[in-house]
Amino acid sequence: MINKKYIEMLNQKSVIREMFMYGLERSKVVGSENVFDYSLGNPSVEAPKNFNKALLDIISNRDSIATHGYSPSLGINSVRESIAKSLNIRFNMEYTANDIFMAVGAAGAIAHAIRAITEPGDEVITFAPYFPEYKHYVNGTGAILKIVPANTTNFQINFDELEKILNYKTMAVLINTPNNPSGIVYSTETIKRLSKLLKAKEVEYGHEIYIVSDEPYREIVFGGVDNPFVSSYYDNTIICYSFSKSLSIPGERIGYIAVNPKCKNSNLIVEVCGQISRGIGHNCPPSLIQLAVSEVINETSDLKVYETNKKILFEKLTEYGFEIVEPGGTFYMFPKALEDDSIAFCNKAKELDLLLVPSNSFGVNGYFRIAYCVPTEKVIKSLPLFEKLAKMYKK
Ligand code: PLP
Repeated sequence: MINKKYIEMLNQKSVIREMFMYGLERSKVVGSENVFDYSLGNPSVEAPKNFNKALLDIISNRDSIATHGYSPSLGINSVRESIAKSLNIRFNMEYTANDIFMAVGAAGAIAHAIRAITEPGDEVITFAPYFPEYKHYVNGTGAILKIVPANTTNFQINFDELEKILNYKTMAVLINTPNNPSGIVYSTETIKRLSKLLKAKEVEYGHEIYIVSDEPYREIVFGGVDNPFVSSYYDNTIICYSFSKSLSIPGERIGYIAVNPKCKNSNLIVEVCGQISRGIGHNCPPSLIQLAVSEVINETSDLKVYETNKKILFEKLTEYGFEIVEPGGTFYMFPKALEDDSIAFCNKAKELDLLLVPSNSFGVNGYFRIAYCVPTEKVIKSLPLFEKLAKMYKK
């Protein structure tokens, strides 16, 4: 017997991954220089030199048994301390090592956080457009993911719809700012309004409603954009962070949970995460990588290419007639497709070797995602294809 739930998931494979695999096959036929693959959110800039130096230094100069040994189940204490210290300095918070749990990327962090604060049957709310893997992170715990329809005017929170969905079974609200796929950063006004609403609902329902704040793009915010630190506005916040995008190391699979120390039972949540790891077998993230990120805790890769790419694409695509809410960060853009059926639209783009992701899997119809984490020369070379695509729809 093989588990039916997972067999069913085989029929819901990631559209993003499938488009990426198609791009690899297509490159073998027409050459990679002729395929414009905007499908996958894989960083296009190098990890900081100091990260590689730290890896070499740790391997060469530290005790091999400790370096390659099992990490404690909550993470290496010195690493948890350096994360807490960095958050406190940057955001004026009061985290301690006890509030930090090391996880395998943001994916691992979210899967742990949701398990820690829900029982099967509880509800978790998120906002369209949303990262498609949320369905699996949440449903895999036995909790139920509820989706608030998109506010397509500016992709900030659709509060009227949120109020309709909130109920006594809501245990968490899962937000992602800066957002994949829209590139939008929630404003201070949005975060304040969300906090106020959830505080009132906590009183009404008589239990905590946690904000699970998925923040892998926290460091990729463009000049002048308001980027509030969610946890400083709402005590019951659990941050799920990843170094995948900030240090360009998605393959190293490292991230963390930071539970606001003012959150009720904050240390218990962290301790419980250690027990969840035991249960799901995703325990003890790689020691070497924990030690190396701790050495570059206040650094990022050189991220400015993403803003350069955003400017070029936003300006040119708007000129060609695409409707786009201008991204404030990340390396994603979410324009309106030129026909209602975004799958048909992306198939037309695919015929031009322009690989875009239809919006359906993000919980919105009629849009598409561009992951512009590609070299700028490639962006420039792709512009005539976007223009050609737009012309195909002009009467
Ligand atoms: N959340 C969002 C919004 C993402 O875009 C991603 C990855 O692309 C993740 C979570 C998972 O991050 P990680 O690969 O670090 O686990």
